Amino acid sequence: MAHWITDRQVAGALLRFGSEEQKRRYLPGIARAEEIVAIGMSEPEAGSDLAGITTRAVRDGDGWRLRGRKVWTTNAHRATAIVLLARTDPDLKDRHAGISQFLLPLPNPRVDVSPIRAIDGNHDFNEVVLDDVPLTDAHLLGREGDGWQQVTAELATERSGPERILSTLPLLRAWAREAPDSDELGRLVAQLVTLRRMSVSIAAALDEGERPEVEAALVKDLGTQFEGEVVDAVRRTTRSEERSEELARLLDHAVLQTPAFTLRGGTNEVLRSVVARGLALR
Ligand SMILES: Cc1cc2nc3c(=O)[nH]c(=O)nc-3n(C[C@H](O)[C@H](O)[C@H](O)COP(=O)(O)OP(=O)(O)OC[C@H]3O[C@@H](n4cnc5c(N)ncnc54)[C@H](O)[C@@H]3O)c2cc1C
Repeated sequence: MAHWITDRQVAGALLRFGSEEQKRRYLPGIARAEEIVAIGMSEPEAGSDLAGITTRAVRDGDGWRLRGRKVWTTNAHRATAIVLLARTDPDLKDRHAGISQFLLPLPNPRVDVSPIRAIDGNHDFNEVVLDDVPLTDAHLLGREGDGWQQVTAELATERSGPERILSTLPLLRAWAREAPDSDELGRLVAQLVTLRRMSVSIAAALDEGERPEVEAALVKDLGTQFEGEVVDAVRRTTRSEERSEELARLLDHAVLQTPAFTLRGGTNEVLRSVVARGLALR
């Protein structure tokens, strides 16, 4: 999970929007896998409706004071930095305006990170409380007020990566070793190949500087449905007493993870509305 967020999402945002100082400070360490950067977007009352964030960065002399609460912040307890989305101008009518991103080194004495345990007992998520954290303009990621545009560009990278469709690949491979002639396996492998090609073509569009947000939402919707279908197919087509130890272990793990596939990075309902609105505007 650390590489999804740090390498692909944060490094991409740093390359596009970061200052020279931020790039020099973080990119070499990210490339060496020494930096883990968390993303503080979601809040208790702002998940799908991200523009509803209430975390505020208030001007304080030359700098800022940051106050608010983030939830589901993956890896914040391991992170060396966090990208935070905060409202910097609360008076604008357009709720997508007046939002900015900040890149803050961790740990920080005014940032409290506490665990939120997942259904399997693992600690990946956190609640992050920001208690008047002092910031300078050097902590701004990109331009003040451009946070919404930056985040939506970043989400296209997060949603479309080939890793998005691979959560259940170890399970698919273990199943293929035990049931190589299954028709259902053939259907799912064909689907995987198609999804991978779609994902690679989005990566190419991103490299060209395009903004394939609709396509990325579509691939994530289809890709996470595929991940769940693999779990469902293994459950339906294999008998528990005949599964190898490895297949049983991977299946148990995948069953617990499945609800997260269609939530993280934007729920499928929300992605479908991104696709519908995007297509209607074309
Ligand atoms: C494994 C995992 C890792 C995560 N890591 C991070 C992280 O590192 N940083 C971070 O900031 N967040 C993270 N999240 C949070 C994730 O982005 C949110 O869970 C997600 O955006 C949904 O928000 P929510 O949980 O508040 O649900 P809600 O927005 O409350 O949605 C609840 C339900 O209502 C539906 N719904 C909401 N709005 C609409 C609508 N307009 N139309 C139709 N249906 C709608 C949703 O589809 C969903 O089924 C993570 C989540 C998971 C599962």
